[in-house]
Amino acid sequence: MLKVLKEANINNKIVLLRLDLNVPISQNKIVSNFRIIKSIPTIEHLIKNNNKIVILSHLGRPKEGEVDEKYSLKPVSLYLSEKIKKNIIFEKNWIDGVDFKDSNIIMCENVRFQNGEKLNSSELSRKISLLGDLFVFDAFGVSHRKESSAYGLIDLMDSYAGQLLENEINNALMMISNPVNPLTTIISGAKISTKITLISKLLNKSSHLILGGGILNTFLFALGHNIGTSLFESDYVDEAKKIIKHKDFKKLIIPIDVVCSNNSSFDNPQTKPISMVQSDDKILDIGAKSIDKYVDIIKKSSTVFWNGPLGYVEQDPYDTGTVKIAKAIAISNCYSMVGGGDTIPIIEKLSLIDNFSYLSTGGGALLKFIEGKELPILKKLGAYT
Ligand code: ADP
Ligand code: MG
Repeated sequence: MLKVLKEANINNKIVLLRLDLNVPISQNKIVSNFRIIKSIPTIEHLIKNNNKIVILSHLGRPKEGEVDEKYSLKPVSLYLSEKIKKNIIFEKNWIDGVDFKDSNIIMCENVRFQNGEKLNSSELSRKISLLGDLFVFDAFGVSHRKESSAYGLIDLMDSYAGQLLENEINNALMMISNPVNPLTTIISGAKISTKITLISKLLNKSSHLILGGGILNTFLFALGHNIGTSLFESDYVDEAKKIIKHKDFKKLIIPIDVVCSNNSSFDNPQTKPISMVQSDDKILDIGAKSIDKYVDIIKKSSTVFWNGPLGYVEQDPYDTGTVKIAKAIAISNCYSMVGGGDTIPIIEKLSLIDNFSYLSTGGGALLKFIEGKELPILKKLGAYT
């Protein structure tokens, strides 16, 4: 059984709280607040019970052992402080001890500035563990990793799962074991290599599995279509072919038409049937007929699981397919679960957050969980027993 914070009677303690506050920041401004907002219930629960909190998180991929302001958590600390209307002490030098002064909340600077974090140094974990009485893990996004400020602390301290982690696990479990059928899964995004296992697993459970993005291109290639200069992974063509031969292949939904461009600035979008893609074309989105077909499937679904943008969303108009699919899921009555570091910001930008049943903070961790892999941190917290 998962050892959950809300069932433990924790009062008047100093709690080390590992969050995933790895959010995009531009010019000191938070671009996506989603992970921060989702972390608040656990913070409030701890405060309500008179605990003091030492918040730990990573941000980006800085060079370990060096302080790089670009990856500072300072803007996150200011933002969170405003949201919870409480003073937060931001500690740059925290590894040898922290001082709560006039606040009950401390946020430590990026744990990835510490030497040894990524290699799960036991000495680093030991030093971190001295900063608090017990450990609360609420950073679902790093559940699949073994790092000092997360995995490394669990054996050293009395440890609990926070509210966000509990919600993530419950929603993902429902998707895996008990989805209301028909279940439609949409697996899309850049690389098939990161999602091929997921596709194999979900194809079996799904009524339809919709493809898009670079992943789709690899399948189109495997099916013998000309994909021109489109993004695809040649190393995974054989894997795609195996899936094509599988009895469930008919559940795999591929587009009727696609939007291509054949120049380097991508400023000449052309919609064409799959069979008309030329050798100098790059497939950058699904076409209007495909959107209609996909939307129709979504309308008839009771559960939708979505991961990955369906096109080159960074450039207009190749975000059209993704935006229309997002809107179709948002207005449907189905149970909808979405994950993916590049997928959630699209929903945020469209102000559709509240129109989805569950948005996951996990990228790789969520995919691995749904694939059925045991995530090391969840295992230690008792999620699989
Ligand atoms: P997520 O992080 O949500 O799981 P991915 O990282 O797998 O998603 O994929 C997101 C990226 O895929 C985006 O940067 C998007 O531009 C890119 N992408 C999707 N479709 C295409 C395409 N047809 N051509 C080029 N890039 C694409
Ligand atoms: Mg991504």
